[in-house]
Amino acid sequence: MRRPLEMARHVYTWFIYNIYKPLSTILYRQAFNKMTITSNIIPRKNHPVSRNLISPSALKVMHRLHTKGYEAFLVGGGVRDILLGHQPKDFDIATNAHPEQVHALFKNSRLIGRRFKLVHILFGREMIEVATFRGQTSEQNEKQSEHGMLLRDNVYGTIEEDAIRRDFTVNSLYYSPKDFCIYDYLNSMNDIQDKQLRLIGDPETRYREDPVRMLRALRFSAKLDFEISPETRDPIYEFAPLLGNIAAARLFDEVLKLFLSSHALSIFQNLLKYGLFGPLFPQVHQTLESHNRASFYIKLIEAGLHNTDQRIRAEKPVTPAFLYATLLWPEVDRIWQQLKSEGVPDFPALQQAGQQALHAQVQHISIPKRFSLMMKEIWEYQIRLQKIQGQRPLQLIEQPRFRAAYDFLLLREQAGENLNGLGKWWTDFQVKHPAPVHHKSRKPRFKTNNTDSHDKDDKKRSRPPRRRKFNQG
Ligand code: ATP
Ligand code: MG
Repeated sequence: MRRPLEMARHVYTWFIYNIYKPLSTILYRQAFNKMTITSNIIPRKNHPVSRNLISPSALKVMHRLHTKGYEAFLVGGGVRDILLGHQPKDFDIATNAHPEQVHALFKNSRLIGRRFKLVHILFGREMIEVATFRGQTSEQNEKQSEHGMLLRDNVYGTIEEDAIRRDFTVNSLYYSPKDFCIYDYLNSMNDIQDKQLRLIGDPETRYREDPVRMLRALRFSAKLDFEISPETRDPIYEFAPLLGNIAAARLFDEVLKLFLSSHALSIFQNLLKYGLFGPLFPQVHQTLESHNRASFYIKLIEAGLHNTDQRIRAEKPVTPAFLYATLLWPEVDRIWQQLKSEGVPDFPALQQAGQQALHAQVQHISIPKRFSLMMKEIWEYQIRLQKIQGQRPLQLIEQPRFRAAYDFLLLREQAGENLNGLGKWWTDFQVKHPAPVHHKSRKPRFKTNNTDSHDKDDKKRSRPPRRRKFNQG
């Protein structure tokens, strides 16, 4: 009785690996290469997107475009998040009006980006982003790097063409405030229902065109609690090194979005799993792979990210400086210990270690100066906080960086470092000597500077400060 069963299992396995899988890959590629678009129009009564869930500014922009004879739809996270019952982070609009035409209609707008032109329309602190429908690129009109990365993407087209140029199916749903319908060209609604994150088109081509899509895959999967479909997930490991070709300024924004998503811990673990952490933080990665204190360093980063997630969920402020100080600490600590073993005194060794680790890191992710200065202070305070005699502690808790440095000290202990109870000493000291109120009200805001937009995503660098406060402590 066992034999036929075993035979059947063998035949089944053989069929799956030798016929089904190769065939489905070929069919999948063919289907996506000549993607046929069938539109599925979902009437208002069959979906939950209503105007009172959409920002009045976004509605205003779409209304103005309509009255001037253009088409305009809400697209991307605005539609996706409402369908999933989340509050959208921002509202993006797609239109057939060209960027210059949109700009001419709104005094409060500015044209941004070179590789991917967009219009930002400002309503106080809110920014509505308007993108013109992208068309199909062809060999004559597209510009690619040697790795297949799109260097220019300003070919305009129809809404159907735009739909397949977007990244994931769930980001490619269009809502019209004219007829209240949702336009679904790629069966995106099925993926919303099945909680599947699926890249549009041939995944390899799409990752080559823009390797940042790999980071977006991890971010959306964590944020939406979606599974990354196998054909979208499988090529990531192989294509991860392409992230090394992305501009360091764009990566600063993208990495920050990952770690401020309130899912930083699971995203960090996935970055390691999919080989994406290495291209972003090569030196730190090397230390995490090979150093004899690697497990302590991983614990420290994980504890830091867990705290960050909790702070964000509790709507407490978080500073990118603290985050990056944590992520780079393995490298700083490794160099610090090494310099000390070579005879360099404690403080200069730490200063030099911080400088070296930062210098190597900014080749990959450009960290703005206002953050790197604060990172250095947080690190250097790890020595200052050891001076607990006389009047020094009283002077130290008066310093603006004290709180972040103290939190960092606790993190080191939390990860298992033995600091002879220094953290507890400072905790008790603060109970006896509460910090002056003015330090608590310092709220440096996170602002990125938009110089030139190399890609779709670095558009956000010119955004006005978001509502979230980026400050630890
Ligand atoms: P959220 O704003 O919540 O982070 P989102 O999906 O709205 O998510 P945005 O970065 O605001 O993301 O981009 C808006 C839309 O633009 C996306 O939904 C997607 O359709 C498209 N898009 C953004 N980045 C890319 C990219 N790198 N490649 C292709 N399409 C993209
Ligand atoms: Mg958005």
